[in-house]
Amino acid sequence: MQLTENFNLEEFKNDGGLWIPAHIDETEAHRRYTKLAETLENVRFRLGKTPIRITSGHRTAEDQQRINPGTLRSMHCENLGVDIQAEGFSPSEVFILLTNYWLGGLGLYTTHNHLDLRNELGLAEARWRKL
Ligand SMILES: [Zn+2]
Repeated sequence: MQLTENFNLEEFKNDGGLWIPAHIDETEAHRRYTKLAETLENVRFRLGKTPIRITSGHRTAEDQQRINPGTLRSMHCENLGVDIQAEGFSPSEVFILLTNYWLGGLGLYTTHNHLDLRNELGLAEARWRKL
């Protein structure tokens, strides 16, 4: 299902094809990923219309336990967070270009950036670097 011009729901699903958290109904889950896709369109435009690849989208609690057990409340489990790679930009460059622009959570890792809309849940903006 196409969410926006350049982002498809398939890209947000986990390896098992799941995308709806147990505590959210399908309408809300869809609304959240549409909102995230719209903000990713803005990021894409801001980076000169470069392709953006989602490297990790939805995570079940079990996925999260396996991938990053240190984070108790992951936005990947709330349909509000993704890890991305932007073609032609290093994660450091993306972090610098978005830090004053992105409203939610923005993380810098060696291979990717984490972007989330935690502000949708009333949570404060966050920035972190894990290099
Ligand atoms: Zn992430």
